[in-house]
Amino acid sequence: MKNEYLLLTPGPLSTSETVRSAMLKDWCTWDDDYNKDIVEVIRTKLVSLATAQEGYTSVLMQGSGTASVEATIGSAIGKNGKLLVVDNGAYGARIAQIAGYLNIACRVISPGETSQPALENVEATLKEDGDITHVAIVHCETTTGMLNPIEAVAALAKAHGKVVILDAMSSFGGIPMDIGELGIDFMISSANKCIQGVPGFGFVIAKQSELEKCQGQARSLSLDLYDQWHCMEMNHGKWRFTSPTHTVRAFYQALLELEKEGGIAARHQRYQTNQKTLVAGLKSLGFTPLLDESLHSPIITSFYSPTHSDYQFKEFYDRLKAQGFVIYPGKVSNADCFRIGNIGEVYPADIERLIGAIKNAMYWELN
Ligand SMILES: *Cc1c(COP(=O)(O)O)cnc(C)c1O
Repeated sequence: MKNEYLLLTPGPLSTSETVRSAMLKDWCTWDDDYNKDIVEVIRTKLVSLATAQEGYTSVLMQGSGTASVEATIGSAIGKNGKLLVVDNGAYGARIAQIAGYLNIACRVISPGETSQPALENVEATLKEDGDITHVAIVHCETTTGMLNPIEAVAALAKAHGKVVILDAMSSFGGIPMDIGELGIDFMISSANKCIQGVPGFGFVIAKQSELEKCQGQARSLSLDLYDQWHCMEMNHGKWRFTSPTHTVRAFYQALLELEKEGGIAARHQRYQTNQKTLVAGLKSLGFTPLLDESLHSPIITSFYSPTHSDYQFKEFYDRLKAQGFVIYPGKVSNADCFRIGNIGEVYPADIERLIGAIKNAMYWELN
């Protein structure tokens, strides 16, 4: 089964035919073929992709990526804990919103959607508010495509003895990092982003000593991160409740394909070439990226919408879709933008074809 169009989106994204066809078999959730051979192998592979350091473990969680973020926030922060969140986009804001739902004390640093947080501000807040126990930050803020300074923020948080939570949903697997070296205690991502699997579950890679402290702290049964992990640890990868077996099987295949590509470094190279080709091509057609290029990630890029009075996103979108490319609407609150993702089964040659398709789709220029 071939796709009719390429998804240039931040996930779900275009997957390989082999990943999709891995789903054509049914699995029994308590059979060894599934748990030992697939879930446990996935858990081990994820940890080794995230860090070379000892002491880390992983846990898979049903639901979209947000469920794993909510499981982490709701399980890691104790009754008297307080969270500091860097919010420079919809996903940072969502972490603060989760804290609000769960009645977790929360402090927010909001530099705006097109800026990175000022480190002096982060440091001053950590110094001044001794109640803060946890710091959360998004790696690639998918709202704009901005890459946040996680090394510096995590170092500050560690210097003040805080637990660090990283939403690396849209970057893990596409950007090399060692979460042990960075001092990250909980890193969250999901199946349908840079690992190039299909949607259905998220995962958390955690420092085991920190995860063990979560016992009994969860504010939700189904999102109890510790209990989910404990069940997997004790029962060779068994999930507490029905697991998304087909998605998990596709994810396993996606991990093999990541290895075959040459690992995260090679995938990062491809995404970067995609992104640079995209920005150069769109600039040559007169488009302007929203962010300063120093803030760009290889994951997704926001461009200002054309200001021509005839331009409408839907018309532009439809004309691109008819040529085999699906792009993404903007998500920034104070600027009219559209977004184009570079992740998934997408290669530089596809981006070259996209530039040609965009040229054809610029109907407002034809009059
Ligand atoms: C995709 C994404 C999420 C999770 O979104 P879901 O729709 O719940 O899968 C969280 N954070 C970031 C940065 C993301 O890109």
